Parts: sequence; structure tokens; C-alpha cells
Amino acid sequence: MAQDVLVAGGGIAGLAAAVAARAANWEVRLFEQAPEFSEVGAGLQLGPNATRVLGAWGVLEQLQPLAWQPPRLSVRDALDGRELGSLALGDSAQQRYGAPYLTVHRADLHATLLQAASRAGAWLRTGLRIASVRVDGELAQAQLEGGAQVEADALAVADGVWSRLREQLVGDGPAPATGHVAYRALLPMARLPARLRGDEVQAWLGPHMHLVRYPVRAGEALNVVGFIEGRAGAGWDHAAQGDALRAAAAGLCGELQALVEAVEVWRMWPVHDRDPVRAAGEMARGRAALLGDAAHPMRPYLAQGAGMAIEDAWALQQVMAVCDGRVIDVPTALQRYALNRWQRCARVQRRSRRNGWIFHADGLLRRARNLAMAAGGEPLLDLPWLYHGT
Ligand SMILES: Cc1cc2nc3c(=O)[nH]c(=O)nc-3n(C[C@H](O)[C@H](O)[C@H](O)COP(=O)(O)OP(=O)(O)OC[C@H]3O[C@@H](n4cnc5c(N)ncnc54)[C@H](O)[C@@H]3O)c2cc1C
Repeated sequence: MAQDVLVAGGGIAGLAAAVAARAANWEVRLFEQAPEFSEVGAGLQLGPNATRVLGAWGVLEQLQPLAWQPPRLSVRDALDGRELGSLALGDSAQQRYGAPYLTVHRADLHATLLQAASRAGAWLRTGLRIASVRVDGELAQAQLEGGAQVEADALAVADGVWSRLREQLVGDGPAPATGHVAYRALLPMARLPARLRGDEVQAWLGPHMHLVRYPVRAGEALNVVGFIEGRAGAGWDHAAQGDALRAAAAGLCGELQALVEAVEVWRMWPVHDRDPVRAAGEMARGRAALLGDAAHPMRPYLAQGAGMAIEDAWALQQVMAVCDGRVIDVPTALQRYALNRWQRCARVQRRSRRNGWIFHADGLLRRARNLAMAAGGEPLLDLPWLYHGT
């Protein structure tokens, strides 16, 4: 009889886990607390390490027509507009890494994963919240809000950055706020003046802030996200006027100011992270494996949170495929998953933090950064250790 897994959360990590588990021939029951499956209207960059996995699952061919393949990454100084460095993406990234570098609308990635999981036979339900779990017995047990109890061989914990289930399993408190705030917007490309359009990924580095822009939806929309150091206020994913971002942009170059002014409605999102994963035990406990932001929330300054969630699911698939419940039992298989993943996830978390310090440098540090980027050229921006995958 096939083994089975309960998945807590229907975000990118949970859906990827469902696709992965079905590919390993496990039965899947996924529980999403929200009344329907959905993702926020914003963009994501997906490195070749992530698109390679999507390709292996057959998801990439559905996603690619909806995505954008930027020809290049351009890093600029936000004060004077100068280009500091660039990296060829497009065909060049495809050749270097055997998989594309894409920019996508989150909803498109989410929808293609949802379709793949459903087509593969996963049982997917919304409006069901897992309230508590036990993972140290003969089966993993989950108590649903409202009282029903479900059991399976394993539990995949993918309930996001504010994971309550992590609190029960790892018990290290909520993910702290970084003090950084993201302002996100999506603009129809056709309504933008020509000078604000563009086909590349641009990252503009300014004192205590930075801004990233790139096309999504086959080039029909421009995703803009500005990060500033400041107070987040209560809650998350607010509609926001963007006054703080506009104030932060006041001293920036004209092109950036025009871009910020072109946005009418921003969505505001306080950035939370955790210290880099310290040990395998943070990613697996008994019959539970943690994936995605529940396992390793990170600052989005390496654009890899969703990428790591997809890699996690791939790694889970590999151990599920060899776990027969007897010679290799479920806790041993999940421990192996965690051992395979934790150091890479920690490295990506560390690098994401470091990028924030470099991106937001001011004064002398900013000048040193700009000189180093001019001297370092493309190799400074290319990340073979990351894009070649696990
Ligand atoms: C501004 C910004 C830009 C980013 N850019 C990039 C990028 O370019 N590239 C990239 O790879 N990553 C990026 N990221 C990171 C990426 O968005 C996240 O890492 C990723 O979406 C995490 O997915 P997840 O499924 O782990 O969590 P979530 O998307 O938070 O999903 C968790 C799900 O679990 C559900 N849930 C919670 N509790 C329960 C429960 N008890 N029972 C059932 N369901 C539950 C929630 O409703 C939710 O649907 C960015 C993040 C931000 C904030």
C-alpha cells in the first residue's frame, strides 16, 4: 500500500511538496486554511536551480509561456543612475546552467503548481486549518480546527513565515521583523511611458533602500518592488500609499523617481526572517519535515525564498522515493532530507542578509561597493554554487 503524507499549507512550498510526493508515489492530502487557493499579485525571480526542478516535474512547459526570460541583470546606483555591473541571463544563463532564469507572476507559478498537483492526484482542500500536530508516534497526527483528526505516515509543514506548526515542533518563537519593508506594485506595461519600460531585471542600490524591477506575464506587466529600512506597522500585505517609499526616493536619480511616481497603489509587506538554519533538527522532527518559509524564512535579497521551497520539495521527493517504511523508515528518511538541505538553506539565508547590507550601503561603504563592482565584473554577480542546484 502507498505511504501517505499530510501537507500543511497550500502556498508555493506546500503545492511543490504535493507535486513531489505524488512523483514519489505517495498519497497526498493537503490542507490550506484560506477559503481559496491564491497568491498575491506580485512578481518572483526564479533562478535555474528552481526552474530545473519545475522542468523535471513537467511544470515548466506550462509556466514558461506565462513567464518572462530577461536577457540581462543590470545593477545600478540609485543616486546617480550609473550602471555598476551586469550579468547576461537569457540564452546565456540557459546554456551555462541548462535551465532558464525566469521572472514570473506569483499567481502563475502558484496556479501551475496547483494544476500539476491536482492532475497528479493529490487531494487538495481549502478552508481547513491544521491547529496542532503530533509526530513522534507510529503515525503523524494532525488536529484540524473544529476538531477532526487526520493521520498519515508523514507530515510536510509548509505553513509559511508565520508558521504556528514550527512553534509546536521546533519551539523557537516567531520569525522576527527585520525592520525592512517591501512596497510592491504591478504596472501594465502598455500604460507606461517608453523610458520606464524595459526587458531586463534592474536592481537599483541606494542608501538604506533598494528597488528592483522586471517584466512578468510574458512582458505585459512590470513588477516593481522597493525595499526600505523603516517601521512596518501592524499586519501584512496592506494596500499602501507608498509615502515612505516616495520620501526615501526623493534624493534618487530622475528615472527612479519617475518610476515610483508612476505607481498609484502599493502593497506593503514587512520583511521577517530568522537566523540561518543551525542544524538539521530545525528542518525535520520525527515524522515531520519543514519546507519553505516555515523552515528558513529569508530576506528576499537573493530572490531565492520560493526557489529554496521548490528545492526542498525536490529533496523531499528523493527521500520519499526510497523510503519503504521498513528498511528506511519515515523518520530516518526525513532526517536524511534535513541533512541534505540545512547547510545549503543556511548559506542562502546568510547570503540574502549580506546582500541587504551591500545593497543598502551609504557613504564610504557605498563608494567601496561601487569600485568593487566595477573591478569584479560579471563573475561577482554570477552564482554557480547557487544556480547549479543542490
Ligand atoms: C517582497 C518579496 C519578494 C520576493 N521575491 C522573491 C523572488 O524573487 N524569488 C523567490 O524565489 N522568492 C522571493 N520571495 C520569497 C517567496 O515569496 C517566499 O519564500 C515563498 O512565497 C514562501 O512560500 P511558502 O509556501 O513557504 O509560504 P506561504 O506563501 O506563506 O504559504 C503558506 C501557506 O500556508 C497556509 N497556512 C498557514 N498556516 C496554516 C495551517 N495551520 N493550516 C493550513 N494552512 C496554513 C497559508 O494560508 C499559506 O497559504 C519574495 C518575498 C517577498 C516578501
